[in-house]
Amino acid sequence: MYAGRGWVEGKIALVTGAGSGIGRAAARLLAAEGATVYLTDIDADAAEATADAIGPAARAIRQDVRDEAGWEIVTGRILSEQGQLDILANCAGIQLTRGLIETSLEDFRHVFQVNVESVFLGTRAAVKAMLPRKSGSIINIASNFANIADGLNTAYCASKAAVAHFTRAAALDCAQRNTRIRVNSIHPGCINTPMLEREIVDVAAKRGDPDTSAVRAEWQTLAPLGIGSPEDIGWAVVYLASDRSPYTTGSELVIDGGHIIR
Ligand code: NAP
Repeated sequence: MYAGRGWVEGKIALVTGAGSGIGRAAARLLAAEGATVYLTDIDADAAEATADAIGPAARAIRQDVRDEAGWEIVTGRILSEQGQLDILANCAGIQLTRGLIETSLEDFRHVFQVNVESVFLGTRAAVKAMLPRKSGSIINIASNFANIADGLNTAYCASKAAVAHFTRAAALDCAQRNTRIRVNSIHPGCINTPMLEREIVDVAAKRGDPDTSAVRAEWQTLAPLGIGSPEDIGWAVVYLASDRSPYTTGSELVIDGGHIIR
């Protein structure tokens, strides 16, 4: 039935945080599997560079995912240009490697704005855009820190747990509206992106050691399979976005190489 076709052939996708790391890989793989992809990022140049590398199936838009009006503009443009939105991958996010005492209220709110409010705004805007066709797939990138607590990432852990539970509630809401709009979260472990690199540098600095090699080696052993690649997560986005996961909603897909709980 699927022979000779890409996994998301003909679908229209929106990927946030697409200028870097996991978002970039997800956008690239969705396009490779036949989707037309709108790439957004707060860093317009990075989104543009990724779109250029992907080719004609990609379009770049600057978007700050915290901005409510911005979501209406982006989804409105997609609907006017394509007539439909099938896939939203919420990949934009930030990490704050800071313990409890070191986290200010401002820090905490900032992490929640970028990681949680954006997912709420994006999911709501996408569901509104998907409702006329009663189908679509929304993929929220949480973290295995939604499941595993880490004292050095207090606000970040809380934000990712919020994303996971919000995802379940949104999935139920969509199912109870008698739609096939599916909402799922992916929970990556250590993935080789600029975000992980910043964490390694931060932790080394906190230990008073400017040489990052010890922390890097330690992070490499957190999971039996070591550190993952952005494509390891990008392929999961493609699967959840495709018609090969029709019964999957409200679920969390942990992809962390078997991360060992410390
Ligand atoms: P990344 O390489 O830093 O990419 C994140 C992208 O999001 C960056 O281009 C960033 O732009 C952008 N962004 C930040 N704030 C934004 C905003 N307000 N509006 C729009 N875009 C914004 O990080 P990544 O590792 O790919 O992370 C992607 C997602 O996976 C995040 O939600 C992260 O929490 C999650 N995750 C990552 C890992 C990991 O090990 N890498 C593990 C678990 C979960 P700037 O660079 O300009 O800030």
